[in-house]
Amino acid sequence: MQCLFSVFSNLQREALQSVWSGIRPGTKDGLPIIGEHPNYSGLFYARGHYRNGVLLAPATGKLVKELMIGKRASIPVLGLILPERIVYQEAL
Ligand SMILES: Cc1cc2nc3c(=O)[nH]c(=O)nc-3n(C[C@H](O)[C@H](O)[C@H](O)COP(=O)(O)OP(=O)(O)OC[C@H]3O[C@@H](n4cnc5c(N)ncnc54)[C@H](O)[C@@H]3O)c2cc1C
Repeated sequence: MQCLFSVFSNLQREALQSVWSGIRPGTKDGLPIIGEHPNYSGLFYARGHYRNGVLLAPATGKLVKELMIGKRASIPVLGLILPERIVYQEAL
């Protein structure tokens, strides 16, 4: 707020109407975590989309469906987003 007031000093005289905040859950390597846990069969991740979770929702949903039914993944970057990198390399 102080930063905002330094730019718009007149705002300090106004009453605050409402405040809202949201989260952008991210990972250290900047990529989401999508796929089955390497040690726990049947535990699937689809998280860490940071600022693009709404945009990526259709692709993530499609990918998770494919993985859950044991189909070959149609998205080529799958190796980069698998949970293995978190479990074994602590990227998160
Ligand atoms: C102001 C704002 C504007 C945005 N605008 C856009 C936009 O225009 N387009 C767009 O594509 N995206 C946008 N986003 C980002 C989008 O909302 C997020 O990318 C998306 O909601 C993240 O989903 P996720 O499933 O990856 O989150 P997750 O990583 O699954 O996290 C979701 C929730 O789970 C909780 N959580 C995570 N891990 C754990 C755990 N281990 N245990 C317990 N709880 C956990 C988190 O705290 C969080 O509450 C915006 C976000 C904000 C805040």
